[in-house]
Amino acid sequence: MTVAKSYDLIIVGAGMVGALSAILLANASLRVALIDKHDGEYELSPPPAYDARVSAISSQSKRLLEEANVWQNMPQGRVATYDNIVAWDGLGAGYIDFNAGSVSMAELGNLVENAVLSQQMMAQIQRMNNIDLYFNNGLSSYQISDTGVQADLLSGDRIDAQVIIAADGAVSALRTDNGFETVEWDYGHTAIAATIEIDQPHENTAWQSFGEEGVLAFLPLPDVGERHFVSIVWCVPPDDADHLKALPDEDFCRRLHYAINKRFTVVGITRARQTIPLRQRHAKQYVKSGIALIGDAAHTIHPLAGQGANLGFGDVMALVEVLSKAHRRGEALGAIKVLRRYQRARMLDNMAMAAGMEAFKRLFSTQQPLWVQLRNTGMKHFDKNQALKKKLIARAAGLSSFS
Ligand SMILES: Cc1cc2nc3c(=O)[nH]c(=O)nc-3n(C[C@H](O)[C@H](O)[C@H](O)COP(=O)(O)OP(=O)(O)OC[C@H]3O[C@@H](n4cnc5c(N)ncnc54)[C@H](O)[C@@H]3O)c2cc1C
Repeated sequence: MTVAKSYDLIIVGAGMVGALSAILLANASLRVALIDKHDGEYELSPPPAYDARVSAISSQSKRLLEEANVWQNMPQGRVATYDNIVAWDGLGAGYIDFNAGSVSMAELGNLVENAVLSQQMMAQIQRMNNIDLYFNNGLSSYQISDTGVQADLLSGDRIDAQVIIAADGAVSALRTDNGFETVEWDYGHTAIAATIEIDQPHENTAWQSFGEEGVLAFLPLPDVGERHFVSIVWCVPPDDADHLKALPDEDFCRRLHYAINKRFTVVGITRARQTIPLRQRHAKQYVKSGIALIGDAAHTIHPLAGQGANLGFGDVMALVEVLSKAHRRGEALGAIKVLRRYQRARMLDNMAMAAGMEAFKRLFSTQQPLWVQLRNTGMKHFDKNQALKKKLIARAAGLSSFS
């Protein structure tokens, strides 16, 4: 009979959220088995072929990545800072400008390619001796009981632990297999992500247009010499996305130029267009005895405010705090009363963000004249209200919660 190797935790999924949780839980002296079907290798193309998938990283997330000894090792020339957000309504005169200086912050956030962040997390994981990697691997069978988790892996390894963490992304098999119900619906939007070159400096500003052409963001990337680059996230109905994806480069660039209200001329595409269907999902519970959901396995939201991974990192922060405290007290890590502390710490905040994104998306999808007029008037008032802007920025930076 194969003897099982024992851990405190099994984490399934080494995406950005699972990998960060492995590092921080291992920092708290817990023994971690990290499983992924992926091989853990991230090929980076040299700039300007920046990866098409980037994330806006909030101040709170940056602090967590520093704590994990990841941020300090980010390669030179692969992180951009943004200190302004400019958003406008393409169907009216509504305009909002958020500025870091006006709220006494050094920056509003950072833009980083997902592959760069994942690569640095993997490098840190390799430096730690209490994380065992089971990559190109997966669960073949497993049992979760009151005493813990026993798992047989596709590789033939047998492992056990006190608790299993599902960080296996939006279509989490662990969530489905374990009967976690979700509230979910299609946003009726597909995101197109790509890296493009523009004719003028991006001014360290995240530019965002809401209009007939959908929701479009130009997110700053590091300049290469005198050349300027942004990552785009363009959210449009699925049929429009298919059409835009199939357009020749030159026509696509022209459409972008009009969709961003001619603010920039688009010189070319340096990283191919990717399309990602968008769906809102929220698990009704994040925990059951012996198992907890984190990151996209627990919730997915519209990317219009760039908050999905930041919420996942918020889950990590709460989970690490709960489990490391329970470990110090000698409590069973998989006990439902322990895991519920994590759920209590996160669910309300995550739900509030999801509701906010839904309301925002609905408000900015409509072209009904009355709503267009109302939202433009609202934007103008909002832009003048410094106190409200400060509050929203603090929330987006992860420096305050809704609750
Ligand atoms: C267009 C777009 C733009 C976005 N922009 C931002 C942004 O600016 N800022 C932000 O904060 N968020 C952003 N997000 C959200 C963010 O990308 C996600 O929230 C984040 O990547 C989720 O990370 P995760 O680790 O939870 O899941 P994933 O990244 O999906 O990782 C899941 C991991 O689990 C593994 N896995 C899955 N199933 C199994 C299995 N059965 N066995 C073993 N391994 C398995 C996968 O291989 C993968 O490595 C954006 C999302 C989109 C779509």
